[in-house]
Amino acid sequence: MNKVLLIYTGGTIGMGQNAVTGALEPLDFNHLVESMPEFRLIKTEIDVYQFTPPIDSSDMAPDKWAKLVRIIARRYDAYDGFVILHGTDTMAYTASALSFMLENLTKPVILTGSQLPMGQLRTDGKENLVTSIELAALKDSQGRARVPEVCIYFSGRLMRGNRSTKINADGFHAFDSFNYPHLCDAGVDFVFHDHHILKPDFGKPMTPHLTLDPNVVVFSLFPGVQEHIVRNVLQAKEVRGIVMRTFGSGNAPQTPWLMHALREAARRGIVVVNISQCVSGSVEMGRYDTGYQLKAAGIVSGYDSTVESAVTKLMFLLARHSTPATIRNLMDRSLAGEISR
Ligand code: ASP
Repeated sequence: MNKVLLIYTGGTIGMGQNAVTGALEPLDFNHLVESMPEFRLIKTEIDVYQFTPPIDSSDMAPDKWAKLVRIIARRYDAYDGFVILHGTDTMAYTASALSFMLENLTKPVILTGSQLPMGQLRTDGKENLVTSIELAALKDSQGRARVPEVCIYFSGRLMRGNRSTKINADGFHAFDSFNYPHLCDAGVDFVFHDHHILKPDFGKPMTPHLTLDPNVVVFSLFPGVQEHIVRNVLQAKEVRGIVMRTFGSGNAPQTPWLMHALREAARRGIVVVNISQCVSGSVEMGRYDTGYQLKAAGIVSGYDSTVESAVTKLMFLLARHSTPATIRNLMDRSLAGEISR
């Protein structure tokens, strides 16, 4: 029988209502299993590792990503796949971070959760959990993992983790991957899109990375953005990397103070990555003069990155390299299928 490690971090899937406030709060894994008697019928051997205490994913942070990497790395050979139960709010950040921190991953790491707690009649948690476990246990005809990547499974869609974004705070279709096809659509049957699934080197070991440098900031441009505020962000002495969310295909206002401030930041070694505020499509800094000016100022393209992927990739590279030119070069390459290049 195939073996899966289920890592329960918290999130709505395992929450219950606080008797006093009425607000949802994370409960331990026993509560979740008690709400789902079918759990014991799953035909995969499952071990459980739970975070104590379980957390709302708003409290997810780089040290907890390192903890997840450690849990997986220490037990890597003992399991066919890993499922992480996680709140939806920051699931795409965790999936992106893990995709960089688990280098040459040869087994599935599938994150899932739900919009309604497991105890509720209309919960989406049951299907998400059962299907994720099935997908994590699946092998191909050569006995290799069917989906050797960090993925998010939600509501019938298996998506590359570092391409996914939370798109809905209420609906069951809570995630999508606008710039990359789904890896599998799960209806009555699983329909795999093999061509789009990563092919790691199965002969090489997986290399875990534990450190990230979180001295990064994300800021969005908007008409009327003020010089003194932008300067304060760019000049904060701790900042080493900036994800700048620009207009359309990577365009910014042409105002001289902005170009000057960005050029100066780039000269001081700050890595500024340009990603679009659009959920779909790619940055192309040469398309309009407004984008070309950014390129000339030393800003690097984030191509069709999600914000979650750009931020965590930057944290990952900043922890590993001290030379801005090396980091800029690596931002320009796909490390784990996160950009279309
Ligand atoms: N606030 C919850 C969390 O992210 C939302 C969810 O799980 O859907 O932990």
